[in-house]
Amino acid sequence: MRKYNRRLASIAVAAALCAGMAQAMPITMTANAAEVIFQAECEDLMTTDGTSPQVWTDIYGQVLPGYTGDGFVYLTNETLTMTVEAPADGMYEIVVHYAQILDTAGRNQTISINGMDYMISSPYSDSFIDFDMGRYRLKEGENTIQFKPQYGYGCYDSVTISEAEMPELSVDSTLVDPNATPETQSLMNYLSSVYGKNIISGQQEIYGNGHTEDSPNGYDPPLGYESEFEWIHDNFGVYPAIRGFDFMNYNPLYGWDDQTTERCIEWVNERGGIATACWHINVPKDFASYTVGEEVDWQGATYKPDETDFDTANAIVPGTKEYEYVQLAIEDLAEQLLRLQEANVPIILRPYHEAEGNSNTDGSGSWFWWGKAGAEVYKQLWIQLYTTLTEEYDLHNIIWEYNSYDYATSPQWYPGDEYVDIVGYDKYNTVYNRHDGNTSGPNEDAISSTFYTLVDLTDGKKMVSMPENDTVPSLENIQVEKAYWLYFCIWYDNGQDNFLSGTDKNDPETLKEMYQSEFCITLDELPDDLYTNTDVRPITTAATDDTSTTSTITTAEEHYLLGDFDRSGAIDGMDISLARQTLMQSDTQSYPLEISDINGDGTFSVADMTQLLHFLLGDTAS
Ligand code: CA
Repeated sequence: MRKYNRRLASIAVAAALCAGMAQAMPITMTANAAEVIFQAECEDLMTTDGTSPQVWTDIYGQVLPGYTGDGFVYLTNETLTMTVEAPADGMYEIVVHYAQILDTAGRNQTISINGMDYMISSPYSDSFIDFDMGRYRLKEGENTIQFKPQYGYGCYDSVTISEAEMPELSVDSTLVDPNATPETQSLMNYLSSVYGKNIISGQQEIYGNGHTEDSPNGYDPPLGYESEFEWIHDNFGVYPAIRGFDFMNYNPLYGWDDQTTERCIEWVNERGGIATACWHINVPKDFASYTVGEEVDWQGATYKPDETDFDTANAIVPGTKEYEYVQLAIEDLAEQLLRLQEANVPIILRPYHEAEGNSNTDGSGSWFWWGKAGAEVYKQLWIQLYTTLTEEYDLHNIIWEYNSYDYATSPQWYPGDEYVDIVGYDKYNTVYNRHDGNTSGPNEDAISSTFYTLVDLTDGKKMVSMPENDTVPSLENIQVEKAYWLYFCIWYDNGQDNFLSGTDKNDPETLKEMYQSEFCITLDELPDDLYTNTDVRPITTAATDDTSTTSTITTAEEHYLLGDFDRSGAIDGMDISLARQTLMQSDTQSYPLEISDINGDGTFSVADMTQLLHFLLGDTAS
């Protein structure tokens, strides 16, 4: 009986949404008023030398409307400091009432949380507005938070700190490629079903000749391509679920079959794992004197933009030599992907990765030639690759993973929702970008703000992963910060940087705790039907502007919504039609009972349709 009532409640929510009550809500909105833990007028705060700050009511005669209290603080040289009592270790959102009249392009504000500085790009505004400075982790008890002047020149009127409400992590498992193979859809369904609840373990393999002469992780003789995987097994008793590959050696210059494709097929078909790959595709260093199709020694090839005269902007222009070269490179990649497809092996493909490099839109910060001509050309390159592989080579075994950064400029590099299935971020922060309070050693930060910046990049429509990393975040940090990366994938040990076995990159105890936790999915924990799930329909959640219905949708089974026969995410007349049609054809088995058994009696009959009809007419008491 209780079950029955709960079902009715869920149907009521669906119909309310259907009626438009909750439409057009951005996915990141805080639905309920979050618990405020601190609120103050900035002019009432103290400076670091214990004095009151200068209170402003205009900036050299320019009146800024909308402040509250006695005025505001124009941060030019004073640091405002406050002690904030947090009820628990967790994530908190800091919003300031703020104006900034110096720079229309925005200006970096500096906030310090318990001694750690963060820079946030802030907008221009000549009146006071609410500026969300982001979500930060505070520890239980007293925390010191400061607004520093640096070069921000912000006008701070008041500050409000609340318990952070994280966006829902629930995605539609529809792939961007409508012709995706059943295996690919099956894998995507699985990934979507664990996203937001677990992290999948992953490890990048060394390619080329594998580990040969040196043995960075202690094996003598070295274990070739298997060193990292056996090291994980020897230390943690399990294998990672994901294996990272690189198709870089299949190229038009020195084309070398290092058996990456064979290992990829083996990993998926023999060992039951998940494969992902990047593509460090090279161009000739001396492109001017290169003839397309000619062989070039590996020392004459590069992926670095400053080592080649290759004009990336031409790569999207048919008729140019650069275009011809890229077509040839795509052909080499396609050949391998086709071998995978013929072996029924889907792959999470992460081509043209880390394009942005450093914050920019013109390509000036790029590490790789594919980012060199800036964001607009980059997006065209991505689309060209997508279109060529899917349409010309008929490759439909790809889950498309785009590698992003979290800069203010990063959204301009994003190729678009119709070409991307997963958004990834490569975490390398043992040397730079640390906010964990240490200056060296493993950085176990879960980088929650980066995670949610990337969730927001697609309004929560795409899963967010960590396709490369040095330190794996600790289990505790991930759970407290609610940074639910889809997977991690540690880079291989290269002797110089031993990303897996080097204790400067990963503390073995922390990694062991992760690997052995319920939270972390290992190879042996992947389902038997990972690639053979016969129900290959994409699992759709509610329409993207109906976020509330997704809140209860957490596992594959629960993606069914009672009464939602057409799986649109809402209950409407179409569902009545389908229910009626199905009953007339006596084909009552064609929908799972989770959808059809509205009155909860264990069968689908006319009584269920009647109840659905009553419900839609507003007669919820029946
Ligand atoms: Ca004020």
